[in-house]
Amino acid sequence: MITRIINEKEIQKLRNLLAQSDKIVITCHLAPDGDAIGSSLGLMHTLNAIGKNAVVVTPDLVPKSLQFLPGVKDTIAFTRHDEYVTKLLAEADLIFCLDYNESYRIDRMEPALLASKAPKVQIDHHLNPGDFADVLISHPESSSTSMLVFRVLCRLELFDRINRQAAECIFTGMMTDTGNFSYNSNEPDLYIVIAELLRKGIDKDRLYQRACNTFSESSLRLNGYAMSEKMELLPQHRCSLITLDAKELERFKYEKGDTEGLVNKPLAMPEVLWSVYLREDPTHIKISMRSKGRFPVNLVCNEVFGGGGHLNAAGAEFKGPLEDCKKRLLEAMPNYDKYIPE
Ligand code: MN
Repeated sequence: MITRIINEKEIQKLRNLLAQSDKIVITCHLAPDGDAIGSSLGLMHTLNAIGKNAVVVTPDLVPKSLQFLPGVKDTIAFTRHDEYVTKLLAEADLIFCLDYNESYRIDRMEPALLASKAPKVQIDHHLNPGDFADVLISHPESSSTSMLVFRVLCRLELFDRINRQAAECIFTGMMTDTGNFSYNSNEPDLYIVIAELLRKGIDKDRLYQRACNTFSESSLRLNGYAMSEKMELLPQHRCSLITLDAKELERFKYEKGDTEGLVNKPLAMPEVLWSVYLREDPTHIKISMRSKGRFPVNLVCNEVFGGGGHLNAAGAEFKGPLEDCKKRLLEAMPNYDKYIPE
């Protein structure tokens, strides 16, 4: 089977908490991605299978592209039902915090989470976990939280209770957080887990098609436009920069998730070491960065924009005009030339 990476003390604490709980609330971060919602639903299905009353609440709506996941219809978004979610959190006897390191990542749901007296179990793979949880299972070396949830369930001796629905959710999280196993994907255990999930009956090819390869016409055209007209190369910094302003997004009827993966595309060029995508959202500029090798985009995101993330995948938000955001980035770029390998 797979190697043991999670501390036995934390597992023991979790085992005890679980034995005493019935009303369980599972939370994940704002703008849930495949891993956030996949890990949450995978855990929910398995806890429900052992007779617990587990429910998934999300800070905002689950994107359309992930609506195919089993159980997603039963999730409750704080933006739609804030009072009900607040009540659920207050009355819970156990709360899971999945795929986020700090409580501010759940946005306006944060006060309700922190006010709840229920013990909190954090399972996450982002760097620098905060200290709001009673049980902390933090493994930045793990490629996804979904993979960690699988590990936790095995350690709780619940492997047999992972049904096909749970397996589909867990697999989707593992797949989306690794770009269909194209980065952060050298861990041998990953493939043992996939084999186990296949034995649970998942259709891996169908899940790929649904989660990673379904686009609307306007989104395909928007991505084509971004690559052909908007990609700027900065060879002296080994960087690629794509910006899309509100007008352009409107022209292509942009919907959340339509440019998912766009920022990765320029990395296909050997000469590009890091890639930046700036998108003008209604309230802020969304900054996404990706890199290859040891180039630390989390450092760039943090030092220049106060954001964060992983070495090769990071993000931030900028309040102000797109032009100012771009200017700040271009001015800071020379500071990071030292990370370009000889
Ligand atoms: Mn994740």
